[in-house]
Amino acid sequence: MLKNDPLEQWDRDIFLHPSTHLAEFARGNVPQRIVTGGKGSHITDRNGNRLLDGFAGLYCVNVGYGRQEIAEAIADQARELSYYHAYVGHGTEASVTLAKMVLDRAPDHMSKVYFGLGGSDANETNIKLIWYYNNIRGLPEKKKIISRWRGYHGSGLMTGSLTGLHLFHKKFDLPMAQVLHTEAPYYYGRPKGEMTEEEFSAWCASELEAMIEREGPETIAAFWAEPVLGTGGIVPPPKGYWEKIQAVLEKYDILLVADEVVTGFGRLGSMMGSDHYGLKPDLITIAKGLTSAYAPLSGSIVSDKVWKVLEQGADELGPLGHGWTYSAHPIGAAAGVANLKLIDELGLIENAATVGRYLNDRMRETLGDHPNVGEIRGEGMLCAVELTADRSTRAAPDAGDKVTQRAVGHLLENGIIARAMPQAEIIGFAPPFCLTQDEADEIVEKTARAVNEVFGSGT
Ligand code: PLP
Repeated sequence: MLKNDPLEQWDRDIFLHPSTHLAEFARGNVPQRIVTGGKGSHITDRNGNRLLDGFAGLYCVNVGYGRQEIAEAIADQARELSYYHAYVGHGTEASVTLAKMVLDRAPDHMSKVYFGLGGSDANETNIKLIWYYNNIRGLPEKKKIISRWRGYHGSGLMTGSLTGLHLFHKKFDLPMAQVLHTEAPYYYGRPKGEMTEEEFSAWCASELEAMIEREGPETIAAFWAEPVLGTGGIVPPPKGYWEKIQAVLEKYDILLVADEVVTGFGRLGSMMGSDHYGLKPDLITIAKGLTSAYAPLSGSIVSDKVWKVLEQGADELGPLGHGWTYSAHPIGAAAGVANLKLIDELGLIENAATVGRYLNDRMRETLGDHPNVGEIRGEGMLCAVELTADRSTRAAPDAGDKVTQRAVGHLLENGIIARAMPQAEIIGFAPPFCLTQDEADEIVEKTARAVNEVFGSGT
């Protein structure tokens, strides 16, 4: 396409971008980038820039860009059968094969898979399945859902309510009444005073229990959580957290939904976050890594316990009144099958574990003692650098200084895409699983330069 076409102008004039300052974008005061290609861990844009994508799109292009095996599978499926629905017992070879592959990779007690399109709609499906489940059980009061501050579960009406980030509520009249938020497992942001990680985990569990008691356990249906907090700051759970939380849920007959949209299929260096941390979820939400974003597809993995009740309800209620036209779309399913095969064949989860550990270790060695770095944390191919004005008090830098945005801008000028996480001053990395050690070195070295530059200790 000719470079002197009006595409940039059209983009400013007519394209309503998600998660963008609409007015500043329209005025031309925030940058635009029209992306044209990708290969491995890099993308290219219309201006000829080649950038190392340290966030794999939105932590979704797990196998890296330009995988011909997946492109071919999509093309073959489109030629053979571009669409058929999944209603009233229909399916396609791709969607049934993918269901089997997903269950083979899920924890043992999971028994069925429903396919949607994206993470938000899969969480929406799970909410509806839970309400349906409790209605079938004759517990119509048991409908409230507890999620966590800093959790991210999408931006629909109910899923945006589950999301525990104020930006996603403000002026949208959210959260909706059925949703409550409890403490985030964010040890770095713990209340003042001495507290070990285990004590902090116990405190989170006791806050959850107090909320359940306050509301009445007979009104609480489910607890919604990512195994590792993603968008809320890339926060692995503190020691003992999941054990203590699950004990509370069990005590009060509350379902656990593991939102594995980010952690599913290898991001933590193991197949599923639930197995990684010993979670026994009743439902699992999957999306991103299912197809590495080569086509939109998500899923709800249903445990045997929940399934048995749904099955029993069907005899009384008839067909499940839920579904999308594009549920289990064969092109998405073909992408999923090819993606999961490729992950196995190339040993990409092992690479995510090894190079992810290397990235985190190198980041700690290089920046761990920096006076303005409060914490470096991560798991698998996830890494966060939290900035501070004062390490001893963990005080946040002055918001007006926009240190994270400036550091991320500096990285971009030097060819690295990082993410300024939306809550607190956190530089986030979630590279593709195919990242090499040299690329990890480049990320670390340029992050150190960016942090030094922003805090005035630049070289
Ligand atoms: N759940 C988690 C944990 C996510 O990180 C996201 C998106 O980032 C979602 C759900 C929502 O997925 P989508 O944006 O595909 O609707």
